[in-house]
Amino acid sequence: MSVHASPDGHTRVAGIIGWPVEHSLSPAMHNAAFRELGLNWLYVAFPVAPERVREAIAGLAAAGVAGLNATIPHKTAAMEAASSRSAAVEAIGAANTLVPDGEGGFRADNTDAEGFLRSLDESAPMELKGRSALLLGAGGAAKAVAFALSGRGARLLVSNRTDRRAAELGEVVPFRTDALDAAAREVDLVVNATSLGLEGDAPPPELPLAGLRRGQVVADVVYRPGGTPWLAAAEEAGVRPVDGLGMLLHQGAAAFEQWTGRPAPVEVMRRALSGGG
Ligand code: NAP
Repeated sequence: MSVHASPDGHTRVAGIIGWPVEHSLSPAMHNAAFRELGLNWLYVAFPVAPERVREAIAGLAAAGVAGLNATIPHKTAAMEAASSRSAAVEAIGAANTLVPDGEGGFRADNTDAEGFLRSLDESAPMELKGRSALLLGAGGAAKAVAFALSGRGARLLVSNRTDRRAAELGEVVPFRTDALDAAAREVDLVVNATSLGLEGDAPPPELPLAGLRRGQVVADVVYRPGGTPWLAAAEEAGVRPVDGLGMLLHQGAAAFEQWTGRPAPVEVMRRALSGGG
C-alpha cells in the first residue's frame, strides 16, 4: 500500500453532502482508496442544511472541490444544480455524484444504478434479458434499480406502499403480503428498495419471505452492520443473496473512477466499509 503523507497545498478535496451525514461510510471508503493509490486527495463529509444546499454546491464548485456525492435529502438538488445530466440522472430524477465540468460547475451522474448492477454481477450473476423482477419500493433507490434492470431487458413488477408511485415504474403488484408472496414465487429476482429493514431484529412483516425459493436471487439495497434480518431470513430459505453494502461499494467505486480517472481499488474499499479500513 502506498500512502500520501498528509494534506498540503496540493491536496484535492472530494466529499459528500447530506443532512445528516455524520454516519456516512463514504469517507472511510474513499480515503482508504486514496491512500491505497498514493493520491493526495481527501474525502470529507459536509453537513448541509436543506435550505442552504444550492448555495453549498455553488460554493464547493467555486472552491475547486474535485468531486461530490449527494445523499438524502440532496439528490434532487444535486441534479438541479448541475450544468449537465447523464442519461441515468434524467431517467432516475436524482443525482448522487457530481463531477467537475471544467468550466467551474459540475455535471451530474447517478452511480446507484451502476453500483446495483456491479454488485449483482459480482454476487449473483444472471442474464436479465427476458427475466422478471419484483421490485419493492418507488423512491430514489427503487428508481435507480428500475433504470438498471430495465436497461438490461428485465420485466418489472413493482410494489410500493403508495400505489401511484409504483405505477410509474412498472406493472403494479398490491403492497400486501399475500400478493407479494405470490408475485415473488413467479419471478427470477426480488429486490427490496424500500427503507424497510433499517431497524429492528426481525424481518419487516411487509416484505415477502414465504414466496422466496431456493436458488432465486434476492437483493436488499438497505444495509446495516451485520446485514439486514430480511436478507438473513431469505438466505436461510436458500436464496442467492445480494446485500446493500455491495451496491454502496460499487456506486462509490464508479464515482471514484470518474473523479480520479483511475480504476477503484475495490477490495480496499470493501474492507474499509466493513470496518477494517
Ligand atoms: P426514499 O426515496 O425516501 O424512498 C423510500 C421508499 O421506502 C419508498 O418506496 C417508500 O414508500 C418506502 N417506505 C418507507 N417507509 C415505509 C414503510 N414504513 N412501509 C412501507 N414502505 C415504506 O428513500 P431512498 O433514497 O429510495 O432509500 C431507500 C433505502 O435505500 C434507504 O434505506 C437507503 O439507505 C437505501 N439506499 C441504499 C443504497 C446503497 O448504495 N445500498 C443507495 C441508495 C439508497 P412510499 O412511496 O409509500 O413513501
